[in-house]
Amino acid sequence: MIYIRSNEEIEIIRSSALMVSATLTEVAKFLKPGITTLSIDKMAETFIRDNGGIPSFKGYHGFPFSLCISVNEVVVHGFPGAYELKDGDIISVDCGFYRDGYHGDSAYTFAIGNVKSEVLKLLKVTKESVYRGVAQAMENNRVGDISFAVENFTAKENGYGVVRELVGHGVGRQLHEDPQVPNFGKRGDGKKLRSGMVLAIEPMINLGTKDVYTLKDGWTVVTKDGKASAHFEHTTAVRKGNGEHLSSFAPIEAAEQVNSELNVSYYVPAPAVAS
Ligand code: MG
Ligand code: MG
Repeated sequence: MIYIRSNEEIEIIRSSALMVSATLTEVAKFLKPGITTLSIDKMAETFIRDNGGIPSFKGYHGFPFSLCISVNEVVVHGFPGAYELKDGDIISVDCGFYRDGYHGDSAYTFAIGNVKSEVLKLLKVTKESVYRGVAQAMENNRVGDISFAVENFTAKENGYGVVRELVGHGVGRQLHEDPQVPNFGKRGDGKKLRSGMVLAIEPMINLGTKDVYTLKDGWTVVTKDGKASAHFEHTTAVRKGNGEHLSSFAPIEAAEQVNSELNVSYYVPAPAVAS
């Protein structure tokens, strides 16, 4: 069942989605070499709860953390833990925020310090591909138009591997709703899009092969060739003439910019958050 949301509902989803963006902005300020991924998760959970939200992922099918944190060759669903970030890493942070009955869902991949230029290009192209997908999320298009736009730009134009085992999805009262939104496909295929549908568009793009496997923890998805993978995601409303992303990367990018301009280390820590 695919839901058509009222404008009132979409504004609540926007509010949750922007709180995901705010959480990822706190993450952007917090990141630096030497911190553990578990410390990021704890900071984010405190921020989410201090803002009246519930971390959507915690307990979802038994997922034990508030964030999915996926470093380098980890594609998605990585567990926060004792790993300490180091110069040259990339780190995908996926976050869900639930408040007033609706979820927001967004992800961003950060560069820690001096990252190889080929990996920085992967981040740039993957981020751009989200917007290519969002632009197709318009009334009377089909899901396949989004899928095609993402695949065409990432795989065909840039030669990257598009992950097939994991896909975008509807988002609203449930974290994952219909329809599935693959990052590969044909124009004109799939369900017809109606104004008021809300979709999480989330390309997972690999530097090398598209093939992935899941670790024994049952969650962590890793590239088969061990090369880097990037992940960006926007909660998106289907509209007439153009999709509208309800989450925003703008504050995250501003925080990244501030930290890089300080030129001390790439990132500066956020002020301590009381727990
Ligand atoms: Mg997500
Ligand atoms: Mg999602």
